[in-house]
Amino acid sequence: MSLATPSLKTASQPRRLSILGSTGSIGCSTLDLVERNREAFEIEALTANSSVSRLAIQAKQFDARLAVVADESCYGDLKEALSGTGIEAAAGPAAVAEAAGRPADWVMAAIVGAAGLAPTLSAIRQGGIIGLANKETLVCAGGLMTAEVADCGAQLLPVDSEHNAIFQVLDLDRPESIDRLILTASGGPFRAWSRDEMAGVTPKQAVAHPNWDMGAKISVDSATMMNKGLELIEAHYLFDMPEARIEILVHPQSVIHSMVSYVDGSVLAQLGQPDMRTPIAYALAWPERMATPVERLDLGAIARLDFEAPDEERFPALRLARAALREGGTAPTTLNAANEEAVAAFLAGRIGFLEIAEVVEATLETHPSSALSSLDEVAAADSVARQTAMRHLEARSMAP
Ligand code: NAD
Ligand code: MG
Repeated sequence: MSLATPSLKTASQPRRLSILGSTGSIGCSTLDLVERNREAFEIEALTANSSVSRLAIQAKQFDARLAVVADESCYGDLKEALSGTGIEAAAGPAAVAEAAGRPADWVMAAIVGAAGLAPTLSAIRQGGIIGLANKETLVCAGGLMTAEVADCGAQLLPVDSEHNAIFQVLDLDRPESIDRLILTASGGPFRAWSRDEMAGVTPKQAVAHPNWDMGAKISVDSATMMNKGLELIEAHYLFDMPEARIEILVHPQSVIHSMVSYVDGSVLAQLGQPDMRTPIAYALAWPERMATPVERLDLGAIARLDFEAPDEERFPALRLARAALREGGTAPTTLNAANEEAVAAFLAGRIGFLEIAEVVEATLETHPSSALSSLDEVAAADSVARQTAMRHLEARSMAP
C-alpha cells in the first residue's frame, strides 16, 4: 500500500459541481472543501433562498457559471451584485430547479425542507451523482424518489453523518448478511431534561446543539429528536431496510456516527469528529477519499463513550416518526410537512417547544394515511398537511 496522501488534484478532469443551498451550513462546509482542492472542482451553479450578498460573494470567489435565488424579489439585488462578472443570475423556484438539472458530475442537495424536492428531482433526472443532505425530500417522497434514482441511472450518496457512516461500513453486495442498522443520536441539548423543564425551552436554547453546528431547523429537530425520526425514515429508503430492523441508540459524544450489525455478531462502526466536512468529503471524493483539515480523533483523550436507550415518552417525535414509517403512504409526508410548519412557528416564538410534536401528532390524526403513487400526490399531501398544521398552530398561538 502506498503511503502517498491521496489527492484529488491528480485527477485528470475537474469535477463539475452544483450546490443547492450553498449559503447554508452544509453548503458552506462543501465550499470550504472545494476551496482547499481548487484544481479538482469547477462550480456550475450555486443556489440560495434569499441570502443575496453571501451567494454573490461565493459565486465570484468560486467562478460559478450561474447563481440563483429562490426568492424572486431578490433578483434585482443579485443581478446588480453580479454585474460585470459574466456570472448568470436567475430567480424563482423554477430557476432553482432548472439550475439543479444543468449537466454536472455532482450535485449537493443541501436545501432545507421539502422545498428541496423539485430541485433534487431535477438533479436526479440529469443522472449524475447527488450528495443528499436534504433528508426531508426522502421523508416526504420516499419510494417515488428512489424509483426516480433507479430509472435515471443517478447515484444517491448519503451526506447525513449517520447514513454516510452506514454507507461506509455496509456490505452492499451481501444484503442477507445484515442483521440491523444502528443509528446513533446525540440526544440533543435536552437529552437529560424532564418534560416540565422542556416546556420552557426558548428558540435560542433549542438551536444551541452541544456537538454540531447546524442550520436552525435541523437544530430544533435535533432538540425534539424529530431529526432522528426523519433519519429513521431516511435510512429505510436509502438502504431498503424495514423499520423493525433500524435501531436508534443515544450516544451523547457523537463519536460513533452509526453502525451496522451483521448476522455473525460483528458490528461495524464509523467514528470521527462531529464535523460535517468528513461525510461531505467522503461523498465528494467517492469512490476515492480526500484529505480534510478535520481534527483527528483522539480516543485516549475522549476516554469514554456512553450509550443509552432513547426515551419516546420525553421525546414523542421518535414514536410519531416510527408510526408514520410503519403506516407508510402519505404518513411520512404529513409528518414532515407538519413538523416544518411547527418548527417555523416555534422559532418565531408562536408556540412552545413541547407543542411542536403535539401539532405533528394532531395533524397526523386529522389525515389518516393514504396510498402515495405519484409526485403530484406528494405535493397534495404536503400542502393539505401544512394547512391543517397551520390551523392547529393558530389554535395554540401564544399571545404576543
Ligand atoms: P441551513 O438553514 O443552514 O441552509 C439551508 C440552505 O437552503 C440555505 O442555503 C438557504 O438559502 C436554502 N434554502 C432555504 N429555504 C429555501 C427554499 N425555500 N428554496 C431554496 N433554497 C432554500 O441548513 P443546513 O443546516 O445546511 O441543512 C441543510 C439540509 O441538510 C437540511 O435538510 C438538513 O436536515 C440537512 N443536514 C444538515 C446537517 C448540518 O450539519 N447542518 C447535517 C445533516 C443533514
Ligand atoms: Mg444526521
